[in-house]
Amino acid sequence: MTHKDLDNFVGFTAQMMAASRAIETEKADRLFNDPFASSLAKEEAFTFVKEKLTEQDIAYIAVRTRFFDDFLFSPEIKAKQIVILASGLDTRAYRLPWSSDIKIYELDQPQVLEIKAAILGDFTPNCEHHLLGVDLKQPWSDLLLAQGYQPNLPSVWLLEGLLMYLTSTEVHRLLQAIDLLTTADSYLGLDLVNVKSIEYKPYKGHWYSGFDSPEELLGQYGWTAQVFEPGQEGANFGRYTWVLPPRDVPDVERVFLVQARK
Ligand code: SAM
Repeated sequence: MTHKDLDNFVGFTAQMMAASRAIETEKADRLFNDPFASSLAKEEAFTFVKEKLTEQDIAYIAVRTRFFDDFLFSPEIKAKQIVILASGLDTRAYRLPWSSDIKIYELDQPQVLEIKAAILGDFTPNCEHHLLGVDLKQPWSDLLLAQGYQPNLPSVWLLEGLLMYLTSTEVHRLLQAIDLLTTADSYLGLDLVNVKSIEYKPYKGHWYSGFDSPEELLGQYGWTAQVFEPGQEGANFGRYTWVLPPRDVPDVERVFLVQARK
């Protein structure tokens, strides 16, 4: 899968994220250790990241990874089932210290998950691990339920680097599906861009939605959201040093890191 396969640029972005995590892992002051990332990302993804992404873009990916690593281990989260939508080449099932009663369900395009399964086949995940190849624009809840997901128990959901690739209608459909599968005491982590950022290079032409108020969007589905912008306290980790204008300043490209509770 290459970025020239334009029908599946979005699949290639999974490789870009893995390449960025491999670059971060090489740093002496790395924010996380992803020892699998370099074997998951092909050379072309490293080239794309180095040539097309800015230093700020790459720092954002590192900060986002660490932000959601920490979120998943928040002391208040007691849920044992974690659903990662659009997990791509995320290796959290392998690299984080889960207890054995944790179940992780990863959903992404079949061809992306096949790459991961093939390359990580010799390694053992630190949890009960399910890979589900799906198109998230189509109904997928029954497949998750068939794998043993319990909708009557609390759960944690992660949508990292996904929503911008969906239209606004598709985002609402996805949040509705999640709503039907979640109980009180469930948690949700996600990132999204604002409307002004939809045309942001190098993703121009591939991002379809932006939201200026994640609080309002998630509030419609019963979530209370805490919203961070990279660089802010709790979302810079000493790595994202760019300072953005306050949120009420209009006409600024923004990306939001969100953790929410139902
Ligand atoms: N969460 C991973 C990470 O942070 O490394 C991957 C993020 S990557 C930017 C976007 C991912 O969304 C890709 O793995 C892509 O295959 C997945 N994706 C986008 N649209 C999808 C869809 N309709 N169905 C399934 N997966 C989709």
